[in-house]
Amino acid sequence: MSSLPPSIQNLVDHFTTLPGIGPKTAEKLVFFLLRTPPKDLHDFGAALSHLADNVTLCSQCQNFTDKELCAICTNPRRDQGTICVVADPLDLIALEETHNFRGVYHVLGHNINPLEGITPNDIRIRELVVRIEKESLTIKEVILALDANNEGEITSLYLARLFKKYPVKVTRIGKGLPQGSDMEYADSITLSNALEGRREI
Ligand SMILES: [Zn+2]
Repeated sequence: MSSLPPSIQNLVDHFTTLPGIGPKTAEKLVFFLLRTPPKDLHDFGAALSHLADNVTLCSQCQNFTDKELCAICTNPRRDQGTICVVADPLDLIALEETHNFRGVYHVLGHNINPLEGITPNDIRIRELVVRIEKESLTIKEVILALDANNEGEITSLYLARLFKKYPVKVTRIGKGLPQGSDMEYADSITLSNALEGRREI
């Protein structure tokens, strides 16, 4: 039985569902919040509700957005003919921080991961295929920018094989990324070099 009042325990329980947060850290965070002004607490709660109510997936690239189409997809200065495929929205952010990519993206949501039971049907591959079929005259290149680990490798090979039948160049970012690493943790220079060193597969 918890010694905490139910309303505090309730929030502690919510915090422990977050990655990397155990019960001790969760308690620390909640007691920190208890010392903040009530208005800030309300704003914090409102920001969470706002996420649930307003954030959706871009109907074109499947990245998070507040609108039907995201700011990258609607930017007339972006090259709609080059699609960079990433597993995670954080990878997209890392690539944007290089300021070295002027195309658009497609966010799969996850890599294929047989060990965790994540199959090609569980990630947003179908949306990418529909996009390539619909815009076959515009799309010239699909860049696979997936993690330098087993799951990224499996996903890259699966997509490369899948897109063979379409008249589109499929490339893969260079090997500069440290093996076994997550894209989102690579620094901007490494990512820029990997992007420039992409090769057709
Ligand atoms: Zn978009």
